[in-house]
Amino acid sequence: MAEIRSPRLLFEECRRYTAQLSELRMLLEERLHEARAELARVRDPYDTRVRQARHDVAAIEAALERMDRGLYGTCTRCEAFLPLDRLRLAPHVQQCAACAGEARMSA
Ligand SMILES: [Zn+2]
Repeated sequence: MAEIRSPRLLFEECRRYTAQLSELRMLLEERLHEARAELARVRDPYDTRVRQARHDVAAIEAALERMDRGLYGTCTRCEAFLPLDRLRLAPHVQQCAACAGEARMSA
């Protein structure tokens, strides 16, 4: 039988989720700012730092776009929810550990 939940609890959950999203948005914007500063600082286009910063900017912008579309926080491959700890460490990463090839598959 379906669970009946009080509107107050749902409201609390919604508030917590919104707070987590704005925390992650702040992290993303901070990192975007840093990556753009790196691009402005290092002029040589063949410098590996420039390549890394360009990659970071693209990944962060994609993550912010997913956030605006309400898709942020789920894996782009399998649509599993990404753990908050993972997002706090790398807020631009949009794949779960398994899809990103971080976890070894068991036979
Ligand atoms: Zn996945």
